[in-house]
This record gives sequence, structure tokens and C-alpha cells, in this order.
Amino acid sequence: EVLLDLKDVVAGYGNLTALHGVSLNVKQGEVVALLGANGAGKSTTLRTISGLIKPSAGSLRWKGASIVGNAPEKILRLGVSHCPEERHVWPEMTVAENVELGGYLLKSKTELQRRKDIAFHRFPRLKERAGQLAGTLSGGEQQMLAIARALMSEPTLLVLDEPSLGLSPKMAFEVFDVVREINSHGVSILLVEQNVHNALSVASRAYVLETGRVIAEKSSESLLNDP
Ligand code: ADP
Ligand code: ADP
Repeated sequence: EVLLDLKDVVAGYGNLTALHGVSLNVKQGEVVALLGANGAGKSTTLRTISGLIKPSAGSLRWKGASIVGNAPEKILRLGVSHCPEERHVWPEMTVAENVELGGYLLKSKTELQRRKDIAFHRFPRLKERAGQLAGTLSGGEQQMLAIARALMSEPTLLVLDEPSLGLSPKMAFEVFDVVREINSHGVSILLVEQNVHNALSVASRAYVLETGRVIAEKSSESLLNDP
């Protein structure tokens, strides 16, 4: 089943066109990577999917229905959660408060608590630091926190912007372990990753972007042979 389907999406910032017709899809259960050099349009693609940027042309469908023009909150309610590259945890708030923010759409306190328990069970490192200010965490821990927060909405699709950016190889490995674990619970993932090796460790397919266009779609086998 195709969850997310982009066809010929054109989008940008003011006069700058960053995406010149991007087509891609993500099916139920998949981990799909977006590869490409800096400035290729990877983050812009994710921002368009999560409703932060409105495409000026093309179609953007979620489970068959158009989501063009939907506000970010609406898209989150539909089951698409965006964990942005900027990793913006709130440094002056505690780890627990940051996690709670991800459940801001929830009305039930018990449900919020249940999901927080799941998050802390999944990320024991964060549990140990629940009362600490988020700004005191290491880069890798802040990335885990951003992921934990994005999962609070229990998304169908997690859109993850370069989670390994700036991390040591060891921390990056841990982050990709988490990505695999999340996927094993049935969450589909669209992931930006510059490092082909990292992408291969989790994704079954990848799209390669160059100057706002998809120039190739590859299976992980073909990437292995011809990266
Ligand atoms: P990357 O190109 O590594 O993906 P981003 O596109 O996320 O980085 O950019 C980092 C920050 O700089 C973001 O806040 C983004 O909005 C801003 N930014 C990036 N390029 C431009 C630009 N050409 N003009 C203005 N702001 C930009
Ligand atoms: P990538 O994620 O592949 O590094 P981006 O999607 O961040 O690429 O950037 C695509 C193009 O859009 C680049 O030319 C970049 O400078 C521009 N861009 C990105 N963010 C902004 C922004 N906030 N304002 C203006 N231009 C931006």
C-alpha cells in the first residue's frame, strides 16, 4: 500500500525554486532514504511533505487523498510526523517537558502519560535525564530526544531529516539502531541521509536528488554495487 505519493512537486522559497518536479513514494512498512549533496532539495522535500512549504505545482497525496495546502498540524493528525534537521529541542526545558511537547495534540492526560512511558522505555538514556535541561544533553542525546518527541504522536510515517548529522560514528550507529527498532514496530520512515553507507544500513530503497530533481531511484542492492 502506497502511503505517501509525490508527483512532479515544484516548491521553493519566494523566488527561489528548490524543487523542480520531485516524484517519489513511500509504501507501508518501508524505510526510504533521500540521498544527495547539500542544497539538492532534501530538506525542502521533507518540509513540503509536512506542510511547512506549499508546493506551487504537482500533487502530494497521503493514502490517496491530496494533502496540498494542509496545515502542518493537520498533516500531523493524519499520521505524518516530521523530525527536522535543526534538532530543535527546547534547551531551557527539561527532557521530560520536551517529550511532552510532542503530544500536544492529545487531550487525555492518561494517554499522554502512557506515551511518555513508552518513550522513556525506548530511550533509557532520556529517562535517566528526564529532569535535566535539554540544553545539557550531548548532540546524540538531543537527536534521540527529537526523535522521541516526534514519536509522541504515534505516526504512521516518520519523516526524519539527517539524524546522524554532526554525530560521532558511534552515536550515529545508535541512532540508526533506533530507526530500525521504530520501523520494526510498523512505522514507515522517510529519511534524509548524506552518507550512503548509513542509508544502506536501514533503507530498502533510496531516491537520489540533484538540484531539485530526482535523478535516480535505487534499491539497496544496486546502491551497494554502484554507490
Ligand atoms: P541544509 O542545506 O544543510 O539542509 P537547511 O536548508 O536546513 O540546511 O538550512 C539551515 C538553515 O538555514 C535553515 O534555518 C534554513 O531555513 C536556512 N537557509 C538555508 N538556505 C537558505 C537560504 N538560501 N536563504 C535563507 N535561509 C536559508
Ligand atoms: P538539502 O536538504 O538537500 O541540503 P535544501 O532543501 O535545504 O537542500 O535546499 C534546497 C535549496 O533551497 C538550496 O538552494 C537552499 O539554499 C534553499 N533553501 C533551503 N532552505 C531555505 C530557506 N529557508 N530559505 C531560502 N532558501 C532556502
